[in-house]
Amino acid sequence: MNIRLALIPGDGIGPDIVSEAVRVLDRVAEKYGHSVRYERLTAGGAAIDETGAPLPEKTLRTAEECDAVLLGAVGGPKWDNVPSELRPEKALLGLRGGLGLFCNLRPALLYPQLASACPLRSELVEGGLDLMVVRELTGGIYFGAKERTEDRASDVMSYTKEEIRRIAIKAFEIARKRSCRLTSVDKANILETSRLWRATVNEVAASYPDVEVSHLYVDNAAMQLVRNPRQFDVILTENMFGDILSDEASMITGSIGMLPSASLRSDSFGMYEPIHGSAPDIAGQDKANPLATILSVSMMLRYSFSLAQEADEIEKAVGLTLDQGWRTADIFTQGTRLCGTKAMGQAVAGNIRD
Ligand code: NAD
Repeated sequence: MNIRLALIPGDGIGPDIVSEAVRVLDRVAEKYGHSVRYERLTAGGAAIDETGAPLPEKTLRTAEECDAVLLGAVGGPKWDNVPSELRPEKALLGLRGGLGLFCNLRPALLYPQLASACPLRSELVEGGLDLMVVRELTGGIYFGAKERTEDRASDVMSYTKEEIRRIAIKAFEIARKRSCRLTSVDKANILETSRLWRATVNEVAASYPDVEVSHLYVDNAAMQLVRNPRQFDVILTENMFGDILSDEASMITGSIGMLPSASLRSDSFGMYEPIHGSAPDIAGQDKANPLATILSVSMMLRYSFSLAQEADEIEKAVGLTLDQGWRTADIFTQGTRLCGTKAMGQAVAGNIRD
């Protein structure tokens, strides 16, 4: 396969971790006979320094012409005091909106080798944890009309049936490839948008009789996630609830440096990035954990290119690397082998054997 990939390293540790993800992608491509052409683009603080804007027109245009985007992270203290419309994080919203990426996949996976990082009691996560939050990304209260006077403010939460239908279809398709269990999260006892959400999810469910569907109110879902996270497989929810629940789900794995994400639309195009930020405190010091970005490459192969075997190969290599004891500082525990960003990337690439 010929892949044209937009590469946006971004700021802080972005360039450190993206280099290692590229190392692993090149290794997989070499093994399976694919060719990857990289378009290096700037966004975030790096783009502000270069062009004065967080998301240059050229970045968006070129990204759109590529098959997928791999992003490191953006932002940092250097740009904390710029006007809000120029903040590096604007690049993220601009890319998601500009590329029409309405479906955000946030897996929360607790590797058995890292079980001690989980803040929950060990019996709650025995045997690991593997759930997927499917979050609607371009609608809801974050995108509704906003008003502000001196003593009053409002944010409009609005969804169309079509916006709900397309994200529900994505979630049901994903549930089908996993354990065929889906929990839709809303606040249908209070919100009209949630009542439309629930009715539409039920309509879509009729086409997926093999998927078991349940509905939970968001407050209950937040509680159940820490009470008994293993009851969940796929969680489908709207933008703001998904923002909060996916952070909660990722934190119960205890390892911010391990978790990838994907933002998709209806075709195969997607943007892939680690869930963490640019970690300016450790930037350029060979300390960052590159595994979240490496696992983002695995998601890219799976969701944008349907290369399941290659994706599995990367995940297997990450597991093997952890089995061998390699740990960056963020996941280091007594008795394991401390390594840097580069050595971790090299170990994973080295575990993709012929
Ligand atoms: P952060 O995720 O960058 O860092 C939080 C803590 O986790 C820090 O101690 C950091 O060193 C550590 N950490 C993060 N990723 C790590 C990794 N791969 N390996 C080892 N340790 C890691 O969050 P923050 O400190 O709140 O934000 C820093 C900057 O990143 C801010 O400018 C913020 O706006 C930006 N940010 C960007 C994104 C994104 O690009 N998607 C997301 C969140 C925050």
